[in-house]
Amino acid sequence: MSFLKLWPLLFIVLLVVTGCRSSRSLRGERFVLVVDAGHGGNDQGAAGRRSLEKEVNLEVARRVCKLIRKQCRDVEIIQTRPDDEFVSLNDRAGMANFYRADLFISIHSNSARGWAEGTETFIHPSARGGRSERMARLIEQEYVKTGRESRGVKTANFAVLRNTRMPAVLTEIGFISNRSEERFMNSRKGQKRLARSISNAFIRYRRSVP
Ligand SMILES: [Zn+2]
Repeated sequence: MSFLKLWPLLFIVLLVVTGCRSSRSLRGERFVLVVDAGHGGNDQGAAGRRSLEKEVNLEVARRVCKLIRKQCRDVEIIQTRPDDEFVSLNDRAGMANFYRADLFISIHSNSARGWAEGTETFIHPSARGGRSERMARLIEQEYVKTGRESRGVKTANFAVLRNTRMPAVLTEIGFISNRSEERFMNSRKGQKRLARSISNAFIRYRRSVP
């Protein structure tokens, strides 16, 4: 068999062996991912009827880290706050810049005065068309796969998006002000599904960037 005929086979073997890795990790470089659980400490974020945003964000962020650690051994994960503590927005972005992160994912819960439901993921206005937008779209696609209502990808001049020097997204996992979404976001099943969506999006993102 000629070498040319072997190429497709080699490609399949590489995919199986590398799992969630990209060509970058094949060169021995570690991918640095920052997972940022929004709010914390005396900054509780939005409040639902029975839970606080800071708690939900942290639970989902922890699950995201766990899933990615399990599936992508070559990824170094940095949590801006592994516990219930206050970290300023500048420090969150500063941490990601200091460690020269490859990707920044901030996890938040939404709130509205009137009735609202669904997920939405933000990127900085200057990041349109780039890797941030790609990651944001993948996250929203993964939410939809699990039956969530997607409000789409949006732009906002949030500090953590503005001050980070790498692709960055801020995902709103649902409305804590909506009774049934709050229940979902506090349930083990809901948190697992949300975390799975974000980690699946991350794995697809890694495969798609060199
Ligand atoms: Zn928030």
